[in-house]
Amino acid sequence: MIVESQAVGPFFKNGFVVGCEETRDAVLIDPGDEVASLLAFADREKLAIRHILLTHAHVDHVTGVAAAKRALDVPIYLHRDDLFWYERAVESGAMFGLTVEPQPPIDIYYTPGQIITFGAYEAQPHHTPGHCPGGVCLQIGRRGEVGLDLFVGDTLFSGGIGRTDLPGGDYDTLIASIKNVLFAFGDEAVVHPGHGPSTTIGRERRTNPFLTTT
Ligand SMILES: [Zn+2]
Ligand SMILES: [Zn+2]
Repeated sequence: MIVESQAVGPFFKNGFVVGCEETRDAVLIDPGDEVASLLAFADREKLAIRHILLTHAHVDHVTGVAAAKRALDVPIYLHRDDLFWYERAVESGAMFGLTVEPQPPIDIYYTPGQIITFGAYEAQPHHTPGHCPGGVCLQIGRRGEVGLDLFVGDTLFSGGIGRTDLPGGDYDTLIASIKNVLFAFGDEAVVHPGHGPSTTIGRERRTNPFLTTT
């Protein structure tokens, strides 16, 4: 599995290209201000991006969706419960003093049990509300195997958890999502957060101060 992660200011939010090393099919996760460089990576690596997958729709995670859609013309996926955030992207950007272009319509809403394939790989969305109502964890692995790469958005970070003070956020819901949904993938699962470095479920379960005490 090819995983490329990039982040640029002002948000330093991780955008990802995840690709199949055999067929060169790929997905683009949370394209933001780093989108041009992720698309350049895909070109250089001869990867064909088939889906644009959003972990959630806070403004830092969606500022590059329009550019990606123009370049790729592939479907955009989001959980329906985050549509209000998605539709508020321009206004949310303005609150940071940023000009954000209006984003194109969502093509496909995540559903339970959905499987999104690219080459020999598949992504499965798991609803993990708490940081926002429509947050999902994208579980990625080879088709027919248990995927152990988790793209969790801002639900869980290395040594931290997502903020819950924004509209639609809820602390208890977030902790329940982490413990009931994410921990169920097991200690070996690799966590790719929306900000900062990767980690594992085991490391966070044992050492994350927000999760060891509650
Ligand atoms: Zn967020
Ligand atoms: Zn974020």
